[in-house]
Amino acid sequence: MSVVYIGLGSNLDQPKRQLLQARERLARLPQTRLLKDSGLFQSRAMTLPGDDASQDDYINAVIKLETALSPHQLLDALQAIETEQGRQRLRRWGPRTLDLDILLYDDLQMDDERLTLPHAGIAERDFVLYPLQKIDNCLMIPGVGALDMLLAKISAQNIRYLGAFE
Ligand code: ATP
Ligand code: CA
Ligand code: CA
Repeated sequence: MSVVYIGLGSNLDQPKRQLLQARERLARLPQTRLLKDSGLFQSRAMTLPGDDASQDDYINAVIKLETALSPHQLLDALQAIETEQGRQRLRRWGPRTLDLDILLYDDLQMDDERLTLPHAGIAERDFVLYPLQKIDNCLMIPGVGALDMLLAKISAQNIRYLGAFE
């Protein structure tokens, strides 16, 4: 069994409900068990330079799973859940009903055409680092560094803890 951390995000069509539903679906994946979740966070949307269409805030969370699925099997399963929950790919970092990223898969470091592990944005993203800290305070991100060191470099200004999953 492998231990994985999944990042969840939504800013469309009742984001909290989207995350609740996604959590249920993750818990029901084959050969998989839900170990822990971060609770819910609210964060400002990330935008690309020049992309001036404003977006609603995101609801974010991280979920820790134990799974026998391989990294690519897990990615397939996550993309199927995104599709089931109405994800449409419009523009990069555009609004979405559900985004599921594999943040960490054991200590694995890999980079192929479908999968980069640890997830590429992990070191700078408040909406990933704060939820990770809720789950495991002393996490080491392979090839990147210690979670507390990464947290020390970013601001908590654009993120807010909302409480447990209802
Ligand atoms: P970002 O990856 O910067 O958070 P995004 O989540 O909006 O942006 P998507 O459109 O959801 O990007 O995904 C684009 C592609 O990223 C996917 O098709 C997938 O193959 C690839 N990908 C690479 N590494 C990962 C990972 N660790 N978890 C999920 N998808 C990944
Ligand atoms: Ca993402
Ligand atoms: Ca994604």
